[in-house]
Amino acid sequence: MAADPHDDADAHDAAHDPEHSHLGAMDLRVRALETVLAQKGYIDPAALDALIDTYQTRIGPRNGARVVARAWADADYRAWLLRDATAAIAALGYSGRQGEHMVVVENTPARHNLVVCTLCSCYPWPVLGLPPTWYKSAPYRARAVRDPRGVLADFGVTLPDETEIRVWDSTAEVRYLVLPRRPAGTEALSEDELAALVTRDSMIGTGLARSAAAAAVR
Ligand code: FE
Repeated sequence: MAADPHDDADAHDAAHDPEHSHLGAMDLRVRALETVLAQKGYIDPAALDALIDTYQTRIGPRNGARVVARAWADADYRAWLLRDATAAIAALGYSGRQGEHMVVVENTPARHNLVVCTLCSCYPWPVLGLPPTWYKSAPYRARAVRDPRGVLADFGVTLPDETEIRVWDSTAEVRYLVLPRRPAGTEALSEDELAALVTRDSMIGTGLARSAAAAAVR
């Protein structure tokens, strides 16, 4: 057997957990395919870069934050969002791949919602952008279901024992967005100021919205 697993492709795969070796192989395939297609003139690498940049910078959690802020500020919009999230979110201009069938789940004192994809990494791209690495990790995907309170503790979130934690398993069909609780003392804030309190993690359920005080010293 080769001393260094990197000397041997099979040993290399065996030395890593299946998910990572799978992603590594996928990454190589994507790069090889991109090179061939670019050489043949089928694709423009600059256009691909623009597409990736779109999801990394333009389409991101700020979109979801605007949805949440609108729901906090406008009771009618909030009701619409909870009734037909796909349409209510599209009305703010956010729609497209991985966001075709949205469901918004609202946090209350009685219930906190946590989103996971136990199968892979389904995630609402139009409102949250690309998923964080931990969201795709096997430990998060397994533990969110088995021990959601423990996962929340790892993220620094402690909820009262009487608050039920409801875990939502995303699928190819349905993508969930958490409507976090509006922080106290934010009655006078504008929608833009409210949006600044909405973190990505608060819309996945692994975090809470920032307090008005935290925002003030930001
Ligand atoms: Fe998935």
